[in-house]
Amino acid sequence: MKPPPLDILSPSSLIEALALLSEHGDAARPLAGGQSLVPLLNFRLSRPEILIDLNRISDLAFIKDGGDHIAIGAMTRERTIEENELVRDQAPLLQEATTQIAHLPIRSRGTIGGSLANADPAAEYPAVALALEIELVTQSVRGERRIKAAAFFEDVLTTALEPDELLTEIIVPKAPPGSSSAFVEIARRHGDFALAGVAAQITFANNAPADVCLAVCGAGSTASRLTTAEEIILQDGVGVEAVKAASAAAAASVDPMSDLHASADYRRRLVGVMTTRALEKVVQRAAVTS
Ligand SMILES: Cc1cc2nc3c(=O)[nH]c(=O)nc-3n(C[C@H](O)[C@H](O)[C@H](O)COP(=O)(O)OP(=O)(O)OC[C@H]3O[C@@H](n4cnc5c(N)ncnc54)[C@H](O)[C@@H]3O)c2cc1C
Repeated sequence: MKPPPLDILSPSSLIEALALLSEHGDAARPLAGGQSLVPLLNFRLSRPEILIDLNRISDLAFIKDGGDHIAIGAMTRERTIEENELVRDQAPLLQEATTQIAHLPIRSRGTIGGSLANADPAAEYPAVALALEIELVTQSVRGERRIKAAAFFEDVLTTALEPDELLTEIIVPKAPPGSSSAFVEIARRHGDFALAGVAAQITFANNAPADVCLAVCGAGSTASRLTTAEEIILQDGVGVEAVKAASAAAAASVDPMSDLHASADYRRRLVGVMTTRALEKVVQRAAVTS
């Protein structure tokens, strides 16, 4: 199937794009890499009258060192993030998660802004955004907002973005000294969306966890933090029994849906297994003995 006829507008500046969004409101949708939006258009699950193509706005594609954070433009391709040295060294969880998104041709077009704005519950970036407490910068003709990841993802494919707003910048805190991270997931086939995935970052002090960040994707209407599991690791450390207890708590805390790929029960079990694998990898990488 192909989409119904629509107009494509191609602004060359952010100001122009924001003016067009403000003018056309709900009738318009921003187009980034098109890797999620175009299939939705083709299946006629989304029926905008106008696409506002962001691909000519070069100011929206950047990766900058901001001191204690990395600033990433919304139109930065997933492939660029995957290969960026600053991201690899200072935000390794984001880099590892990126390698697990889809296939190389999709990552070469898909953007970080498009993925976060799309808010697919099985996507990797929303889980990373929650685990790293990323901030999302939005702009509209009304001004700028900074939204914490915890307030951004509202429901399946639904975010705090207003129809006239664009996501413009993603603020990624750098990994603290002494931290170690891992992103693990399971998918039916290489490149598929995850059935379940876990993002983990632990900061160690004197060989014990001083800060624990765990988030899950694929197990609910949005990605979510695994707060009970975090508390267990923070209190009891990363020994075998604590990891087992944290993984059980993670599985118990999610509320996945059944669909044709997996039952809710199976996904819940996967969350436990992915939590164990993520924590084991974090510990191995930190070379911490518990
Ligand atoms: C076969 C296949 C497998 C895939 N597997 C995975 C996977 O495993 N994991 C994963 O995370 N993703 C996966 N994807 C999706 C892919 O990562 C997309 O690139 C991503 O979800 C959307 O990015 P995009 O730049 O293509 O956005 P688009 O498709 O252009 O846009 C997506 C949505 O975001 C909105 N939008 C885009 N940019 C902005 C902005 N700056 N401000 C406000 N709204 C905006 C659009 O209006 C649209 O509603 C897969 C896609 C395909 C086709």
